[in-house]
Amino acid sequence: MSEKSKGQLKQEELSYKKKNYFETASDKERKEIFDYAEGYKAFLDAAKTEREACDFSVAAAKKAGFTEYRFGDKLKAGDKKYFVNRGKSVVVFRVGTKNPEEDGFRLIASHIDAPRVDIKQNPLYEDSGMCFLKTHYYGGIKKYQWTAIPLALHGVVVLKDGKKVTVSVGEKPGDPVFYINDLLPHLGADQMSGTAGKVIEGEQLNVLVGGLPYNDKEVSDKIKLNVLSLLNETYGMCEEDFLSAELSAVPAFSARDVGFDRALIGAYGHDDRVCAYPALTAVLDRESEHTVLAMLVDKEEIGSEGTTGMQCKVYEDLMEEISLALGANFRKVRAASKCLSSDVTAAYDPNFAGVFEKMNSAMLSCGTCMSKFTGSRGKSGSNDASAEFVGEVRKMFADGGVVWQTSELGKVDAGGGGTVAKFLANLNIDTVDLGVPVISMHAPYELISKADLYSNYKAFLAFMK
Ligand code: MN
Ligand code: MN
Repeated sequence: MSEKSKGQLKQEELSYKKKNYFETASDKERKEIFDYAEGYKAFLDAAKTEREACDFSVAAAKKAGFTEYRFGDKLKAGDKKYFVNRGKSVVVFRVGTKNPEEDGFRLIASHIDAPRVDIKQNPLYEDSGMCFLKTHYYGGIKKYQWTAIPLALHGVVVLKDGKKVTVSVGEKPGDPVFYINDLLPHLGADQMSGTAGKVIEGEQLNVLVGGLPYNDKEVSDKIKLNVLSLLNETYGMCEEDFLSAELSAVPAFSARDVGFDRALIGAYGHDDRVCAYPALTAVLDRESEHTVLAMLVDKEEIGSEGTTGMQCKVYEDLMEEISLALGANFRKVRAASKCLSSDVTAAYDPNFAGVFEKMNSAMLSCGTCMSKFTGSRGKSGSNDASAEFVGEVRKMFADGGVVWQTSELGKVDAGGGGTVAKFLANLNIDTVDLGVPVISMHAPYELISKADLYSNYKAFLAFMK
């Protein structure tokens, strides 16, 4: 090897280039990347809805010695707590030793809801030898992707007497699955000439749930009656109980390694469990001098509304209650707090290069990805983090040896998206977006890199340090 030229050395000194995390990781770190992914896949398979993700997080927190916190409880440094909001969102937190008025809280906010197909309140009908449930989809989906794949049903039914029963069918080996019909190509000429948004319409997303008639000549709608009879045997429910049910059809696929080299993971609901799981495990795994909170919230996919979405006062109340319990002025705590709004971003895909601007796209396996701003068409609706705060986080990552990158979601005029970042920033908390790049976001089976997953976890550890 000849010596490097002056220009080469200058280039190394002054230029910035993203790094592939797999390429730069030591053998030991590569093993950590792969080992960490195993726990994540188990989480994905156990937590297909926000309720299940909440239950999983509570169980993991309990196992790590965390106990439940309720408003008004006393708190002291070293406490390990979790706060459950209506079974659909959870905040897992540690009380640190630093003065909260000076140091604030370190917040990591991600969401545990994912796009899916929800069952309507009057759903059940029979037609032409088949029994269906009518649906209304949740979040931004390409409707045609949800046909002709195995689906599982998850959720709860509140019965007439107020008793709540839990439903989960289609995940265990041997379980039946459910199905949304599509049209055969032989008769699909008209369908295929329409725009993709119209190929399958909302009212065609009917979930097939039965085909066996009730054995009685005297009744009509025999298949529907038979399904009702099975539901009654299993859950004690009748047709009216759908009125007070929350049932969702989700892909019945389990999380799997993708590729000969197993570098990638295919699964339903990476958005945003690929950020929620590292947030949860970082707070469970590591003590901190700071007061750290992993906020796993619901309803991000439909605008963070309602009692379990990030816009609900409950999260502000919780932070205020913690401040009060620690004898701190909440306004001072908020002003000193820092937040990583952790949601996924779009990974650059060479198959769809036209919608990306490559220099500012998230490249797969180049680490977790910071978006200084989100929004669309002129940063509209975005929390545009300050250079000062980005600089601060950048230093934390450098100190923690985190391989990370920055991106925007697509070309300037191509579209965009929002996250919970602005709601936290509105509380006077410095906030920036950080999350894992995803291929085929919002599809029934999404794709991420194990390197980016682990980089996200390491970034949270560095942020908590
Ligand atoms: Mn998301
Ligand atoms: Mn999303």
